[in-house]
Amino acid sequence: MIEDKNQSKTDLGQLGEFGLIDHLTKHFEIKNKSSITGIGDDAAVLDFDKKQVVVSTDMLVEGVHFDLAYMPLKHLGYKAVMVNLSDIYAMNAKATQITVSLAVSNRFPLEALEALYAGIETAAKIYNVDVIGGDTTSSTTGLILSVTAIGEVDSKDVVYRKGAKPNDLIVVTGDLGGAYMGLQVLEREKEVFKVNPQSQPDLEPYTYIIERQLKPEARKDVIELFKSLDVKPTSMIDLSDGLSSETMHLCKQSNVGCELYENKIPLDPQVISTCEEFDIDSTTIALNGGEDYELLFTIDQGDYPKIKGNPNFTVVGFIKEKEAGMQLITRGGTSIELKAQGWNSF
Ligand code: ADP
Ligand code: MG
Repeated sequence: MIEDKNQSKTDLGQLGEFGLIDHLTKHFEIKNKSSITGIGDDAAVLDFDKKQVVVSTDMLVEGVHFDLAYMPLKHLGYKAVMVNLSDIYAMNAKATQITVSLAVSNRFPLEALEALYAGIETAAKIYNVDVIGGDTTSSTTGLILSVTAIGEVDSKDVVYRKGAKPNDLIVVTGDLGGAYMGLQVLEREKEVFKVNPQSQPDLEPYTYIIERQLKPEARKDVIELFKSLDVKPTSMIDLSDGLSSETMHLCKQSNVGCELYENKIPLDPQVISTCEEFDIDSTTIALNGGEDYELLFTIDQGDYPKIKGNPNFTVVGFIKEKEAGMQLITRGGTSIELKAQGWNSF
């Protein structure tokens, strides 16, 4: 378990709201040319010239979206940024700015918020986005964190969920189910820790999947790869909820059907072995486990040579006419209708 190693605990009340904001945000620098003015005035000022602007917000609530028993605050800050950048990349856009709003109870010392902001700062630096504002307020119980991400894209490059057409290939990046299985391991260790706080868990066999849960990476690299490969997906969505429900979103909004192939779903060996250990079906996890933050997209078959053999991409199925419905073709060749949730092992 992650212990609280903070020695000093500075009461938030000592700083006051403005002192706190200043303390947390003083290191942020502006890097993008579209950011005219960042933190410090009543509003940030942005100039995107002739680009289209994409905006997305996600809120993370303690006890609902994260558990501080195993989620270090630095990772939480990093992940909150990733979750939002992933939505910007899913539009085939470049992420440029974020705002960060938090509601925090006085059970958190200043040092906790410093850790949270260290994660935000690291994410902003690596992904080259400017932190241009936010809001800070108190909460009676836990921690609530809301990030808004802003991005830019040429109007001709925007990719929506709605553009898939019959015969397009369905492609995913990376591998699936890791974040969910990482969460299962962390939940199990939390229970063990409750019974025996002295226990020293061996998490070595699970490092990859725990990292997938605690420190996901949004696929900025894939958006850049699309540019260099000269590929524009016909539709795209990010995988926050699992392959099944995200594929259904794409198909519904594109007014098409699909076939996904069970034997094509990319799984890391650690996901497979952990699924065996927990006696869970790995396909079920890939279809319904969330938080992988990979991209799911469709391309015209004519673009296949451009992505063929690239280790970032796996073709998992085809788009069909709407009448064909949305099907998973199992390893045994049986066709099963996709479900958004409550998938039962077959
Ligand atoms: P106002 O009273 O106009 O809402 P605030 O005092 O809340 O202004 O904020 C002052 C400045 O600090 C603004 O630029 C705001 O966007 C920024 N800010 C406030 N809270 C945060 C935060 N948690 N993270 C980043 N910037 C913040
Ligand atoms: Mg404010």
